[in-house]
Amino acid sequence: MTATSGAPVVDDCERCGRVPARAVTLRAPERRTWSGRLCRDCGLAAFRNMQSQTLWRGWHLSRAGPYFSWICLFGNMAEGARLHRLSAPQVHDRAILRPLSRPLDPGRPLWQRRRTRGCLAVVALFTTIVAAVMTIALVSVGLSEFHKRGLRPIDASNAASVSGQCVQITGATLDGLVDCAGPHSGVVTGTTTQLLGGCAHASDATFLVGGTTRQARVCVDRGNHSP
Ligand SMILES: [Zn+2]
Repeated sequence: MTATSGAPVVDDCERCGRVPARAVTLRAPERRTWSGRLCRDCGLAAFRNMQSQTLWRGWHLSRAGPYFSWICLFGNMAEGARLHRLSAPQVHDRAILRPLSRPLDPGRPLWQRRRTRGCLAVVALFTTIVAAVMTIALVSVGLSEFHKRGLRPIDASNAASVSGQCVQITGATLDGLVDCAGPHSGVVTGTTTQLLGGCAHASDATFLVGGTTRQARVCVDRGNHSP
């Protein structure tokens, strides 16, 4: 970089001539790259404008795809952090002529800009919709699998009334109630409030059912199972 006065200058801002300045490379959607040497305020103005453009337009305009917008955003954030660490711009040499007589106004921080808030709102909405769809899909698959196996749930509300009914057990999990005419792993003998014991004599296993607010311990006789 050479000043218009003729003297070589290596560390002033190429827009306003202030010091200190540093080399900056900013990226925007569609693989546009801008490089230059800027002071803190000129650099932050360019950084915030570039980030704002990327947040607002990069997702649908970038030919390289949305992932390139992430590269732009994170690459520019690193440059923005370096620019923040520069001290306030100072006049270096009034004889040096630059396009601007004073540093650019950095403008409002990104999070205070309407475009940034709009982009965050869209991301939050998209994330919420995806999470809701996935939750519904998982619950549907779980319920359909539950009913396909002919199981009826046992929870804290009905545990006291299922004594004598048959259950299916997989490993250490009480799957649910099943028809005693079909395959079953045991018979419910009652419920207990004790961690150990408290079940009828024939019981040889207990299972905790229910949620975090209300629970019941179901006693099961696993010896009474289908052949
Ligand atoms: Zn400047």
